[in-house]
Amino acid sequence: MLDTATLPFTIEPNANPVAASEREALLANPGFGRVFTDHMAMIRWNTEQGWHDARICPRAPLQMDPASSVLHYAQEIFEGLKAYRTDDGGATLFRPDANARRFAESARRMAMAELPEALFLESIRALVRADRAWLPSIDGGSLYLRPFMIASEVFLGVKPSAEYLYMVIASPAGAYFKGGAPSITVWVSDDFTRAAPGGTGAAKCGGNYASGLLAQAEAIREECDQVVFLDAVERRYVEELGGMNTFFVMDDGSLQTPPLGGTILPGITRDSILTLARDAGMTVREAPYAIDQWEADAASGRLRESFACGTAAVVTPIGRVRGTSRDFRIGNGGPGEVTTRLRAQLVAIQRGQAPDPHGWVEYLA
Ligand SMILES: *Cc1c(COP(=O)(O)O)cnc(C)c1O
Repeated sequence: MLDTATLPFTIEPNANPVAASEREALLANPGFGRVFTDHMAMIRWNTEQGWHDARICPRAPLQMDPASSVLHYAQEIFEGLKAYRTDDGGATLFRPDANARRFAESARRMAMAELPEALFLESIRALVRADRAWLPSIDGGSLYLRPFMIASEVFLGVKPSAEYLYMVIASPAGAYFKGGAPSITVWVSDDFTRAAPGGTGAAKCGGNYASGLLAQAEAIREECDQVVFLDAVERRYVEELGGMNTFFVMDDGSLQTPPLGGTILPGITRDSILTLARDAGMTVREAPYAIDQWEADAASGRLRESFACGTAAVVTPIGRVRGTSRDFRIGNGGPGEVTTRLRAQLVAIQRGQAPDPHGWVEYLA
């Protein structure tokens, strides 16, 4: 078998790229997740050859056999990370090695082939190089990268697939929230949970999202922005939102977030905020936080701020919490001081505008 860490990429440039004028028009207001670049990355795996056939090729629809096992048993994982345009016209990636590691961990949990981290990183770099012109220069803009892997064996038997297709697509994105981050209202789901002990809560898999969509739809129906899930065992402890981790800021200046225990997605933004807070000398606790405690602390003023965090929206203040039997405001309902400071600090590092003591930022040549 080839040394997969050094698998060469075949580069097939797109012969019919989007015209420069059209691309610039799209980049002026890309929104999120609807505009795509000219290329994509692909690598295949099967039991005989291992990882092979690495390429950057024109973005195009896939041809799939309807019996491909992902379409039936949902063996699928993904990642999300961003490339940023720097002030001098270069590009940066933020902690792509952490995404590579998590992708391999998700693969292991879903009984899929593990992509070597070096190959994950090279696929990202090669795609950003090919689609460099798609890095938005608008304020708050980024190129959102979506690596994912599907079970591609044509077989209806229930077993781990003998073939996988790994791909990366890229989508220019504007600021997730225009004009900074407004506070969101979250809906506490009584009926649905996201992840149970022993389940797939710590894996970044499409199935976790599929099972959360009904709860998210309920949140929207209740005129809330996001659903917040409680633990599946006691229905008591705050776990996370559908796609973001949660933090609590106390009146003594300390920071708390639910502990990773297999039911919470180990967010890279979460880890980065914990690190920045510890660097700043803040007291940080990774400890369970009960929903009743959240309500009581918000009422007493012991809790000052709450926020959600993840790659897409970075840091988003939570201003209000609602549920069938509760409705409470956090602080004055607007973005808090600590939330705003942590967000600004993280964004500055990501864009290469602040010192990077932990070596999180990779500059692309
Ligand atoms: C991706 C994701 C997050 C955030 O992770 P980041 O690495 O910070 O982007 C949080 N929760 C869920 C369920 C996720 O899928």
